[in-house]
This record gives sequence, structure tokens and C-alpha cells, in this order.
Amino acid sequence: MIEEKIICIGCPLGCETTLKIDDQGEGVKVIGYKCKEGRQYVLEEYKRPVRVLTATVLTEKSSRPLFPVRTNRPLLKMQIKEAAKALSKVKVKPPIRIGQIILSNIMNTGVDVVATDDLLN
Ligand code: SF4
Repeated sequence: MIEEKIICIGCPLGCETTLKIDDQGEGVKVIGYKCKEGRQYVLEEYKRPVRVLTATVLTEKSSRPLFPVRTNRPLLKMQIKEAAKALSKVKVKPPIRIGQIILSNIMNTGVDVVATDDLLN
């Protein structure tokens, strides 16, 4: 029997759940959730965990040394470290508008990195 504790982040309640899978990997049971969305979250978090990456990138010719960005869709959790490394090589310069694509199709995932603020100088 595999047992894994997963905190649901579907809402501020943050339910502590337990996912139990039998040795054959067939029988899956989730306990501790309070709504069906929470159960779905826990199953997806176990099978295919994803995260939106938020980060800062370097700037040039700007009054701000760093500029905030995020992915427009979640990446697989296992891709986050490599994506952060790719972003560490990116430099932006003004003008940039919020929502503007900073890095298109990061790591050929189909996910874009977008500005989360304006950079006007
Ligand atoms: S299980 Fe439902 S109620 Fe609990 S944290 Fe997740 S979304 Fe919120």
C-alpha cells in the first residue's frame, strides 16, 4: 500500500488529504477532502503535478534591476527547475507592457512566459 499526504490548495481551507493506492496500483482512495474539486486536485497532484512558474528576470537599460514574470499556463512540476534556469539567461529592456510575452514556447512546451507588470523605464 502506497500512502501519500497531500495538502489541497484548491481554496484557503487547505484540507490535509491522504491518497492511498494498493500494491497493484489499481485501487485508489482519497480521504480528508471536503469537496469533489479537492478530490480531483489530489488525484492530479499525484498523477501529473503542475505549477505556474513565477520568477524575475534581469533588465538592461532600466531603472529596475529585476522584472517579474510568470508562465501563462502551468508547467509540469519536473520542468520547473529547468525553466527557471532558462529564465536566468533572459534579459529584458523597456518598454514592456503587462501581459506581453517575454519568452515564447519555453523549452518547447507551448507555454509562454509573460510580464506581470509594466516596465516603462
Ligand atoms: S478539498 Fe475542497 S474545501 Fe478542501 S481545500 Fe480542497 S478545494 Fe478547499
